[in-house]
Amino acid sequence: MIINAEKCVGCGICIPYCPVGAIKLNNKKAHIELEECLECGTCGRDYIVKCPQNAIKESADVYERPRSIRKYFSDPMAYHVETKVPGRGTEEVKTNDVTGRVKKGEVGIGIEVGRPCLGTSYVEVEKITKALAGIGITYEEDNPITHLMEDPEKGTFIEEAKKSRVVSAIIEFTIPVSKMAKTLEVIKEVSKSIDTVFSLDLISRLESDGTIPVERELTKLGFEFRPNAKLNLGLGRPLKEE
Ligand code: SF4
Ligand code: SF4
Repeated sequence: MIINAEKCVGCGICIPYCPVGAIKLNNKKAHIELEECLECGTCGRDYIVKCPQNAIKESADVYERPRSIRKYFSDPMAYHVETKVPGRGTEEVKTNDVTGRVKKGEVGIGIEVGRPCLGTSYVEVEKITKALAGIGITYEEDNPITHLMEDPEKGTFIEEAKKSRVVSAIIEFTIPVSKMAKTLEVIKEVSKSIDTVFSLDLISRLESDGTIPVERELTKLGFEFRPNAKLNLGLGRPLKEE
């Protein structure tokens, strides 16, 4: 994002809306520090930020690499060029009824690295993906971060990505339940070196008796967890056949 200095009257209205404090006021003019700006798009939405001068605009290069990496992983309204899906990851398991990505006997894992106000860089994301690559994890092909990998087998990212800061990035993959304990051990170990926050989502289908298979495993491994359910009431059709 950029601010047209000729239009800006230095009212300061836009400043508190930036989640990372990238909008600065100098000599009664606001400007955006491009290195700090994550391109989340908030300050440019005129239904949120009522700039009296209409002075905040997208920069010309925001949809080109490397700037576009920030945009696609920070602005929930932006559609990823590779996947055509808006937001920071894929639709994850919200559409599992029709995609069948996570099958019975499997567990889907989503690791959301970074949050608004804190953000992350791909240097942090790579610490996790490299550690997991060491135990043979295959990353979700449709996830936009996989498209930024230099070598998915090693879990490494291209240099352009590693120089970019973003609001967050979601690592996604699916494993058999039998591999869950080892995978969680690796995540727990690598978490000690991560310089941001991350959340860990485990996705599994219910057993026919209503129990959650990963619940047993998590309890055994000593993890605290909070079960959530997603129901597509009549919308998830046609069901994916196993
Ligand atoms: S709201 Fe508009 S006029 Fe006011 S400081 Fe921000 S850019 Fe300048
Ligand atoms: S696009 Fe987002 S991160 Fe960049 S200056 Fe605007 S509010 Fe801040």
